[in-house]
Amino acid sequence: MKITIFGTGYVGLVTGACLADVGHDILCMDVDVNKITNLENGIIPIFEPGLESVVETNVKSGRLKFTTDVEKAVEHGDLQFIAVGTPPDEDGSADLQYVLAVAKSIGQNMNDYKVVIDKSTVPVGTADKVNAMIAEQLSSRGKQIDFDVVSNPEFLKEGAAVNDFMKPDRIVVGANSDRAKDMIREAYAPFNRNHDRMVFMDIRSAELTKYAANAMLATKISFMNEMANLAERLGADIEEVRKGIGSDPRIGYHFIYPGCGYGGSCFPKDVQALARTAGQVGYDSVLLNAVEAVNYAQKSVLFDKIKHHFKGDLKGKTVAVWGLSFKPNTDDMREASSRVLMESLWAEGAKVQAFDPEAMEETQRIYNDQEGLVLCGTKEQALRGADALAIVTEWKEFRSPDFDLIKESLSEAVVFDGRNLYEPEAMARKGFTYYAIGRGLNQ
Ligand code: NAD
Repeated sequence: MKITIFGTGYVGLVTGACLADVGHDILCMDVDVNKITNLENGIIPIFEPGLESVVETNVKSGRLKFTTDVEKAVEHGDLQFIAVGTPPDEDGSADLQYVLAVAKSIGQNMNDYKVVIDKSTVPVGTADKVNAMIAEQLSSRGKQIDFDVVSNPEFLKEGAAVNDFMKPDRIVVGANSDRAKDMIREAYAPFNRNHDRMVFMDIRSAELTKYAANAMLATKISFMNEMANLAERLGADIEEVRKGIGSDPRIGYHFIYPGCGYGGSCFPKDVQALARTAGQVGYDSVLLNAVEAVNYAQKSVLFDKIKHHFKGDLKGKTVAVWGLSFKPNTDDMREASSRVLMESLWAEGAKVQAFDPEAMEETQRIYNDQEGLVLCGTKEQALRGADALAIVTEWKEFRSPDFDLIKESLSEAVVFDGRNLYEPEAMARKGFTYYAIGRGLNQ
């Protein structure tokens, strides 16, 4: 099938590459000229395991092409995926300007039937707005051309995006036209062979499904962080509690890890956007607001522990920070907890020696020339001469480090672990002062 993807970010590029990989003829369009030039030269703008080789193979085969030419892009696909960003507006609601700009371009340029697919995460009612925008453009051109707008939210996880797209748990489609449904079913057929993963529903329910999924996951995290904070004050160990509750199949072990807050481009903005949507229909979402508030506070927990340990005086101290991306296996630093920690340290006159396996370039881009930041090539280099180690992202390579080297390198053997990677008793035996999240008194 001939398919166009608007937006060549984490979702758009993965969608385009994976659809090309199963044989479709894909044209990816982006307004970012630099990104498209790089892609045309084989440079992948993001780190995502497995993505580079899928892109390379399909570019070579001619099934995956890139463009900045909007006219060509609209002309190409019978299916037009919208996968552009929906960042938070000033009040936290989703900013739809990019989605509606694409809808406008489609209406201005289409000459035959198109299925327009909202893959971006968009508030309930957005498909109606996309529909209205396209209809308005067609009528101003004096054209009467059929089209359908469909909601097909994306559930891929950064760090496992290619695998998630290739083997989805479910493919949610909100559509009210059989013609559009049949075309979408055909496009996804190669991913749907083992068993039927297609979940068809009405458009508004599909739009809400994406927010409900992310809000549920964010709620699990904030719930566990609240329990961790309680455990700390009550002399209990949240890691024992986690196993104790996870063994109940109604709760389950997945996604109940306490830590130093969730980040990324989705949970923070989607929880906020859903709370704003609730407000717009006169519903005060007490739970969603609390999930957000707990997470906001949790991002400062590591800093508070560091400040308390150094008796309130961080001036001239140097902290080694391991892990800068918002989670492992990505270079994405949007809303990352590391940023809150580093910025708080700098505000108190401390220095940071930072290391991340993939996000060094992104850190450089965000904090170019930042005073008090030294970017280090290895995790060992980050330790040298520092006063403490703080771990913010649970990359595999931090799980069993050389503890003797950590002790030798730091001026004081103190570790602040935002992801509970080590055992407190073992750390004490090794001679460390060890702070984790929710693991008993004096944490
Ligand atoms: P991104 O910021 O990585 O990419 C968005 C791209 O859209 C950018 O390259 C930008 O230049 C481009 N763009 C903006 N306006 C455009 C236009 N008019 N025409 C063509 N391209 C345009 O964003 P992302 O992380 O891929 O997220 C895209 C959407 O998918 C968001 O709504 C997000 O909430 C949702 N989503 C993201 C994830 C994720 O893990 N990142 C997962 C599921 C859903």
